[in-house]
Amino acid sequence: MSQPVSEIFSQPTPFKAETRQLLNILIHSLYTEREVFLRELISNASDALTRLHFETLINREIVDPERELAIWIECNPQQRILTIRDSGIGMNAEELAQNLGTIAHSGAKAFLESAQKGDTKLNDIIGQFGVGFYSAFMVAEKIEVESRSYRAEDVPARWISSGQESFIIEPADKPERGTTVKIYLKEDAAEFCDENRLRQIIKKHSDYIPYPIYIGNETEAINRRTSLWRQPPHQVSDEEYRDFYRQFTLDFQDYLLKLHLAIDAPVQLYALLYIPSNPERNPLGLRKEEGLKLYARKVLIQEYCKDLLPPAFLHFVDGVVDSEDIPLNVSRESIQSNRVMAQIKRILTNKIIETLKTLAKDKPEDYHRFWVAHGRSIREAIATDADLVTALQPLLRFHSLNHPQEWISLDDYLLKSPANQTCIYYLIGDHQKSLENSPHLEIFRNRGMDVLFMTDPLDPFVVLRMTSYNGHDLVNAAGEDLKLPQEKSTQTSPASEADNNGIDLVERFKRVLGERVRDVRLSNHPLQSPLRLVMPHGALQPEIQKVYRLLNQKFEPPKPILELNIQHPILTSMLQLPPDSPILPATIELLFENALLVEGLHPNPGELAPRIQDLIQLALEKSSHE
Ligand code: ADP
Repeated sequence: MSQPVSEIFSQPTPFKAETRQLLNILIHSLYTEREVFLRELISNASDALTRLHFETLINREIVDPERELAIWIECNPQQRILTIRDSGIGMNAEELAQNLGTIAHSGAKAFLESAQKGDTKLNDIIGQFGVGFYSAFMVAEKIEVESRSYRAEDVPARWISSGQESFIIEPADKPERGTTVKIYLKEDAAEFCDENRLRQIIKKHSDYIPYPIYIGNETEAINRRTSLWRQPPHQVSDEEYRDFYRQFTLDFQDYLLKLHLAIDAPVQLYALLYIPSNPERNPLGLRKEEGLKLYARKVLIQEYCKDLLPPAFLHFVDGVVDSEDIPLNVSRESIQSNRVMAQIKRILTNKIIETLKTLAKDKPEDYHRFWVAHGRSIREAIATDADLVTALQPLLRFHSLNHPQEWISLDDYLLKSPANQTCIYYLIGDHQKSLENSPHLEIFRNRGMDVLFMTDPLDPFVVLRMTSYNGHDLVNAAGEDLKLPQEKSTQTSPASEADNNGIDLVERFKRVLGERVRDVRLSNHPLQSPLRLVMPHGALQPEIQKVYRLLNQKFEPPKPILELNIQHPILTSMLQLPPDSPILPATIELLFENALLVEGLHPNPGELAPRIQDLIQLALEKSSHE
């Protein structure tokens, strides 16, 4: 990376190819909201101040230790020069060359990738990418960056470029620590030399920058600065919450839910948390990673702290946490083992769950929007964190046999089931449509009983953790020995009425299917389908089997039990056939495979085709002999 300083000073340094490409687009951009360049430069200044602030905590040898941490903006309309000055960490010559010679900003990279793909409307999207320092070339003819690092031994330097091919670096005479960005504005960008215009831009984009921003000779900072999360919640308006969210994330969609906490005991804590409408993190937004922004006594400790919420919650919660009780010098490692952090995590987790429960009760429509966007994360939390199961169960929502379109909770389910029904029945599968056709539901449909549909890939793991809810067992509708309430005595057991032929057929199935089934028996429940497969108790769910297969984990696939409906026309016809009929084994094979298919258990559905052909052939031969 680094050139010796003498070389850096001696001649113009060409920009890297991709930087040149980016600059070329920016210089010629017709983007109408060029004002965002100021947001980018102020944000860089703010980062530099935060880094300096951090240095002051661990480092004694700092240039200008007493200097105010702030950002100053000056205009010179006569010469069309705009200056942005900070007292941040600063850069030496090498850092200037490195940082302002390559593309550091991830938004700029994403933007360039779009450009390379040939997305035409580049001018429309520049603002959304937040392209960093270089965006200043949308308004600049020339930029000079003068900087003095916080390290006493570093000499000050100046970076100069018109954004064409190259930049030069020269020694500078800058006594004070920090960075000054001097922008020689293009003729058509004179508006950015107007203090009122600048004030308006800063209010719009940079109001929550935590350091004072001064314009011109004013001694009063223009930005609100006071961290919104440190204000009493009743004093903050909806508009302010929305503004802050937009500036914090660059997500232009309204958030779904916010949670603002100011707590004194058991720990002192401010938190402003948001749940976005969209489950996908915007790759062009400001929040690049999961995690909460953590401040201790107003000092930024971590941009993306992952220790303050259960991992699954971080998928759908973003925001700021600030506590007076966290020691400033917590290192990355000790954050995890810190007792206060654990306490804060517990408080935040409970508050979020409470807030969601309240939402579900008071505004079910809004809650369903949350569920559709983020329900997967709630399932993940249940599946991965035993401690959360009880608290999160009431948040679960399902479609069901009797409510295929609505979202019902476990409580809704219980409320609508017959008084003598003690269990909660569910059925697992890939799609609701295939579940709706499952033979397992016939028994329930006949009795008007409801069955929850579990179609999310995480659902098998959810029921693994969650074996009961408020004393009601969760029971798989595809399981063995279903004991349903209100069994009519006449129906108790068709098996007991079964004649010897039925038993013969069972034997026949057993002979043909051999090791592939654990047992064949006559069904205890009236069925419309000819047969159904049930899983023995404790068997691995088919969906979990799939995951095992994906993970290449060895496991013994459980053998299903086959239940025959001896009243079904196919089976009664089979009973009529002579025992040596070749149709019999072929039909048995096919019925079995069909049942596997219905359950999503068929290892190779393609194998079915030749068997179907065999059967067609047999049927045709038979009818041609008649
Ligand atoms: P990003 O800010 O996303 O890293 P930029 O292109 O905006 O990308 O800036 C590149 C780098 O230049 C920054 O990472 C930082 O190291 C340095 N830099 C920019 N502005 C300043 C400043 N005002 N003070 C100190 N360093 C700065």
